[in-house]
Amino acid sequence: MIACLEQRFLPESEAVAGTSSGDAQEEEWEEDLGLIRGLELHGPVEIDCATSPPSAAAAARDFGGIYRLPPVAVVWPASSEDVASVVRLAARSPRLTVAPRGNGHSIHGQAMAAGGVVLEMRPSMASLELVPGATPAVRAGAGALWDEVLEWCVGRHGLAPRSWTDYLGLTVGGTLSNGGISGQAFRFGPQTANVIELEVTRCSDLFFAALGGLGQFGVITRATIPLQPAPDMVRWMRVVYADFEHYAGDAEWLVSRAAAEAGEAFDYVEGFVLVNADDPVNGWGSVPLERGQRFDGEAVPPAAGPVLYCLEVAAYYDLRDADDSVDKKAEGLLRRLRHVRRLEFRTDVSYVGFLSRVKRAEEEARGRGIWDGAAHPWLNLLVSKGDIADFDRQVFKRILRGGVGGPMLVYPLLKSRWDPRASVALPAGEVFYLVALLRFNRPPPEGPPTEELLAQNQEVVDCCVVNGYDFKMYLPHYRSRDQWERHFGEQWPRFAKRKASYDPLAILSPGQRIFRRGQ
Ligand code: FAD
Repeated sequence: MIACLEQRFLPESEAVAGTSSGDAQEEEWEEDLGLIRGLELHGPVEIDCATSPPSAAAAARDFGGIYRLPPVAVVWPASSEDVASVVRLAARSPRLTVAPRGNGHSIHGQAMAAGGVVLEMRPSMASLELVPGATPAVRAGAGALWDEVLEWCVGRHGLAPRSWTDYLGLTVGGTLSNGGISGQAFRFGPQTANVIELEVTRCSDLFFAALGGLGQFGVITRATIPLQPAPDMVRWMRVVYADFEHYAGDAEWLVSRAAAEAGEAFDYVEGFVLVNADDPVNGWGSVPLERGQRFDGEAVPPAAGPVLYCLEVAAYYDLRDADDSVDKKAEGLLRRLRHVRRLEFRTDVSYVGFLSRVKRAEEEARGRGIWDGAAHPWLNLLVSKGDIADFDRQVFKRILRGGVGGPMLVYPLLKSRWDPRASVALPAGEVFYLVALLRFNRPPPEGPPTEELLAQNQEVVDCCVVNGYDFKMYLPHYRSRDQWERHFGEQWPRFAKRKASYDPLAILSPGQRIFRRGQ
């Protein structure tokens, strides 16, 4: 039945054969509407999204802009009881599914429920409350944006979570269902490793199942996140490499436990690949941190290849620290790196300004019509250290040598900072790289057709498979059970068992396309 509903709304290229006839579908739709009309909730409900476009428009879309899958109803729960009522109601129907939707920043319809019920976790499930103690924490509603968490924690309490995402217009529940990765993860682990308590929690296994659980095991309604004192300022630096081996070697040293023990750690380490050309989006122009800074192309070694590598690091400090303490720390660390000396960039910004850096990029992209107005066929991978040099040769230097119309992140992370009891699938070794292809192309006809970009993503994935790389998709999306089993590998039996325990009818987050609704 779900396949059949999808056929009505997916782009043609995505259509799958359905089983119900048009009349049968209408009948089922009416039957489900009847059930939903009987719901007694504190929060508002919008019913029959096929005929009421405004709610359907939001709940049937996501940031990716590739899928459009209208639900039969949208619910804005006012409490956990509302959430529970909706899930219980779905269990009484033979086919209804329920998708919690954070801020809809998925790419491949993961927060959609074709013909099901979408639970809009914003704005009502977004409360913030301080939990005092030796390690203070914030108890955040799952629908709170990380932006809101930042502003509230720093502004009111001078405190902050330890681990972030680059972009903060994402919900607590949404990133905890995936991972939540940024330049602090090498030290503190992803956001899923920085949670004390979840409101879905009935037993510790469900707690870990839900973390990185792709919305499959329960609806997270609140999460308790430990806090630490927020620094005042950030020294933010970028240095450029022509040579991947030096780039990766330095980045791996900076994220290592040995560097931390030697007192040689930055507070944030990330990096990206750029095209070795004078191009503001894909190339040299993407590196400077301030207006007035200029990338001197003459400084690039003549032997450099089609792409360069930019290591991005940050050191936190307080205004009351001695004047030169951040200079000593940051400059001391930079001295031991092997980048091109004339290609160094630095700036000082407030802590909140630093964490809000992608918001500024968002404003600019909105102005250019490439935030809301275009599809974003993004691809995120986790590639093991053992394969990353070959990945660089095959993918960055060959397939993507012209760039992707936006950032191409590549930086190392440590597996030991992730909790193996959570549901996220990772490559085998201790060190692996996040690779993120964040495409911001103009919509066609000015920009390339979305199919072409999706085909290029597939070429990258195929390249990983053909070369036998040890890799996983981050924010994964697959079509078949086989592919999901391969994705989870030896963790699949645990994932499937958790599903059988916590959501045996496969009601939750159908947009992930892992399990089919049972009766
Ligand atoms: P949604 O897209 O709404 O939902 C994602 C999935 O989680 C769905 O399956 C949904 O059903 C489920 N879900 C949502 N809320 C709940 C809940 N309360 N309980 C149970 N399941 C739930 N990721 C990073 O790790 N680091 C980054 O720096 C980063 N930057 C990004 C920047 C942009 C511009 C975008 C678009 C994405 C970025 N992401 C990043 C990816 C992001 O973490 C995921 O797409 C995340 O799922 C989006 O959060 P959301 O709140 O919009 O969730």
